[in-house]
Amino acid sequence: MFVGHYGPGFGLRRTGGVPLWVLFLAVQFVDVLLSLFIIAGVEEVRLTEGFTASSPLDLYYAPYTHSLAASMGWALILGWLGSLAWGRRGGVVIGLCVISHWILDLPVHVAKLPLWGNEYKVGFGLWNHPMIAFVLEAGVLLVGVAIYARHARSKLPIWIFSIVLLGIQYSNTLLPLPDSTRQFAVMALASYFGFAAAAWFVERKWGQQPDSGGRWDTLHPGAP
Ligand SMILES: [Zn+2]
Repeated sequence: MFVGHYGPGFGLRRTGGVPLWVLFLAVQFVDVLLSLFIIAGVEEVRLTEGFTASSPLDLYYAPYTHSLAASMGWALILGWLGSLAWGRRGGVVIGLCVISHWILDLPVHVAKLPLWGNEYKVGFGLWNHPMIAFVLEAGVLLVGVAIYARHARSKLPIWIFSIVLLGIQYSNTLLPLPDSTRQFAVMALASYFGFAAAAWFVERKWGQQPDSGGRWDTLHPGAP
């Protein structure tokens, strides 16, 4: 799953008062780490044409980022760090966003997601059913966007942003495979930070105001 991960980020924006761009990084945190670990040689993936019908990505060895145990550990650490900046509620939201990554990867990946270390691998393999996988991905994203857009200052640009995200995801499947897993990791990192920067811009211009720890409704008392 790729842009579908942003669904929980959008959906939980108002609950925790954490800026959207931070949540964009939180939902992809374990993938950001995976990319860095690939470059550092700590974790390993394979890119195999036709590995699944929708994605060539074989999570061959990713125990520190994509095991359930590691994901929960990262969620706790980042949730705690987030609570220092955005209070307990913000910390909980950040933790939930981090763990949502594994939960949303579970239906699409084939049985390559370890529960613990590099063992007991699970995954329901919807990537082998591209249509269902794409509908699920778009559905998760758009539900989150619908929740977010209700309180946005301007709704249309928010919807356009989400359609652009889906378009980028779709066009990704048409590109040739990267030459190496390192190149794949660099491209992935660029997209995670690029999307977070775009989220910052979109929110600043049209979305809910990021604020210093306060919640949207405390800044706009009496607003619906
Ligand atoms: Zn992932």
